[in-house]
Amino acid sequence: MAAEALSDAERRVLQEQLVDERQHVERRLAALVQSFDDLVAAADLEPPDDEHDPDGTTAYERAQFASMAEASRLRLTQIDRALAQLADGRYGTCETCGQPIGEERLAILPSATRCVTCAAGN
Ligand SMILES: [Zn+2]
Repeated sequence: MAAEALSDAERRVLQEQLVDERQHVERRLAALVQSFDDLVAAADLEPPDDEHDPDGTTAYERAQFASMAEASRLRLTQIDRALAQLADGRYGTCETCGQPIGEERLAILPSATRCVTCAAGN
């Protein structure tokens, strides 16, 4: 039950999951950045003004890309923190309150660095 009960094998599996997820998120972020650059390049061909963009579609899409990219970057940060915790033995412990995060939550979200209570409080 306790965080320190993780075996070396469990730790390796978790590390692989986190590294896999990290690569997945990195690819998604790279694709987002590429799409965003394309969008900006396309918009630059036609200067954005109200006549060319009457619905504000381009501005909306840019905002969407920006928030998706931001979410991906945040995810990478969380994964990196989880990997660091895994390396130094703090994995599975809430970084805010110090209580065990709980195996159920970690099974769903291996990169969780805070318990449900603390994550909900922010
Ligand atoms: Zn907590």
